[in-house]
Amino acid sequence: MTAKLILGTEIREVILKEIEEEVKEIKAKYGKVPGLVTILVGSNPASVSYVTLKIQTAQRLGFHEVQDTRPENMSEAELLALIDKYNKDDLIHGILVQLPLPKHIDEKKVLNAIDPDKDVDGFHPINVGRLMIGGSEVKFPPCTPAGIQELIVRSGVPTDGAEVVVVGRSNIVGKPIAVMMMQKGPGANATVTVVHTATKDLAFHCKRADILIVAAGVPGLVKPEWIKPGACVIDVGVNRVGEKISEKTGKKVPILRGDVDFEAAKEIAGWITPVPGGVGPMTITMLMKNTLKSLKYKLGLM
Ligand code: NAD
Repeated sequence: MTAKLILGTEIREVILKEIEEEVKEIKAKYGKVPGLVTILVGSNPASVSYVTLKIQTAQRLGFHEVQDTRPENMSEAELLALIDKYNKDDLIHGILVQLPLPKHIDEKKVLNAIDPDKDVDGFHPINVGRLMIGGSEVKFPPCTPAGIQELIVRSGVPTDGAEVVVVGRSNIVGKPIAVMMMQKGPGANATVTVVHTATKDLAFHCKRADILIVAAGVPGLVKPEWIKPGACVIDVGVNRVGEKISEKTGKKVPILRGDVDFEAAKEIAGWITPVPGGVGPMTITMLMKNTLKSLKYKLGLM
């Protein structure tokens, strides 16, 4: 069997088009556009490139976009005051603080200071609680899990009553996607198992999965013989396993691998995401969707 490829690069374009259309309609009718601020403390190269991508996407969609870059030695109190300023700014509907923060700043304190109604990353405890309750309570689902669910739904993978196995229990991927897939409703309603480092027999659980979502950060962790024929395999892992020279730019770029042995797995699975180009492109897309939602909540459209 050769699996159908689930390409985040293609699905992203469809969703961004939808967002762009909605932004135009809302602007024409209400004279308002979604506003997103990205706060970057320091100049970590990976963070700079993530923030640049977020800014470029927001600009492409016609958002009001503010880039706020601060020096590495900014104090925690200064950062909290900055967040307070954007909490009160009517033109801003989404506040994104790029992680990781410098060690002298308490990440938890900072994330908890963001107004939950502008927390488009979905990391504030209030939004985590809303996600747990489910249904109309959910305001901002966290971006990577929301992207995974979109990939599953838009690829026509049946979820109702499906056995979903999630490898990993992190707060940003494993736990939230497990909660989302078990909720009653379309694109979910599954029977969910979460496996992690203390699980006794990983292979046993993976083999039962109709939908296998792997977010461990261990290259090649999931072996092809652990995959049920015809299953949907979502590989969230992004692991740097070396470097190569880019044919396009002639510069050194990292070689990326997922948590699944893709080449062998694609001969067994029914659907599979590649790395890169699968889940990766969806995270920023869902950030944009959440920022648009935030404006819609404010206008009473949701
Ligand atoms: P994390 O390190 O916080 O969590 C990893 C989880 O996997 C842990 O809960 C751990 O128990 C489990 N795990 C690790 N090794 C295991 C093993 N051998 N057997 C069973 N379980 C094991 O990582 P995270 O933030 O959830 O990210 C996971 C992976 O997904 C990473 O490769 C990360 O780069 C990637 N990621 C990608 C995106 C994206 O594409 N947009 C977003 C977030 C994370």
